[in-house]
Amino acid sequence: MARYKGPVCRLCRREGMKLFLKGERCHSDKCAIERRNFVPGQHGKDRKPKIVGYGLQLREKQKTRRYYGLLEGQFRNLFEKAARTTGITGENLLGMLERRLDNVVYRMGLATSRAQARQAVRHGHFSVNGRKTNIPSFTVKPGDGIEVRERSRNHPGILSARDATAHAPTPSWLEVDRENLKARVLSQPKREELVQIQLNEQLIVELYSK
Ligand code: SF4
Repeated sequence: MARYKGPVCRLCRREGMKLFLKGERCHSDKCAIERRNFVPGQHGKDRKPKIVGYGLQLREKQKTRRYYGLLEGQFRNLFEKAARTTGITGENLLGMLERRLDNVVYRMGLATSRAQARQAVRHGHFSVNGRKTNIPSFTVKPGDGIEVRERSRNHPGILSARDATAHAPTPSWLEVDRENLKARVLSQPKREELVQIQLNEQLIVELYSK
């Protein structure tokens, strides 16, 4: 599956905020946003771009897409699906992003970043409702049970991620049993709990509705 392979801290610097793409490093003083919070590039230090109108909408979309680790085509497809679903398109979109299996694994605290979660899913370490599921974009729904498969229960990457994320908050829409490496989806995610960063999904809707 296609994915972004370039330097991820650069993405945060471009958006001017932490997007938490690198696990534990994001919470340390090694974070590039702590050390070099200016736009990347040769003249980045001198550039103080004033962003309005279309630029604002574009930045909001890029920020959200990068936060969840999707490429443009995947993000656009998801937006179109959200637009076809009953309800508020922006909230539908965020809800769908949040219910992706890779994000759920990250929220369960069994990976320190979404990229790590995606790889763990890809490698077949998880099951949904008892069936092996290795598709990171798989969308879970209320009632679904997600767990680490029997053969992966001693996987060092999963266990060390669980230790590293011991104090991370768990969203109320997920019931997580960290000891037994499993979780259940209780309800649809609530808007106020969806993202750790500030974003305005309405600007994404405006951008794609042009
Ligand atoms: Fe890099 Fe994480 Fe800091 Fe972003 S938040 S700049 S990914 S260390």
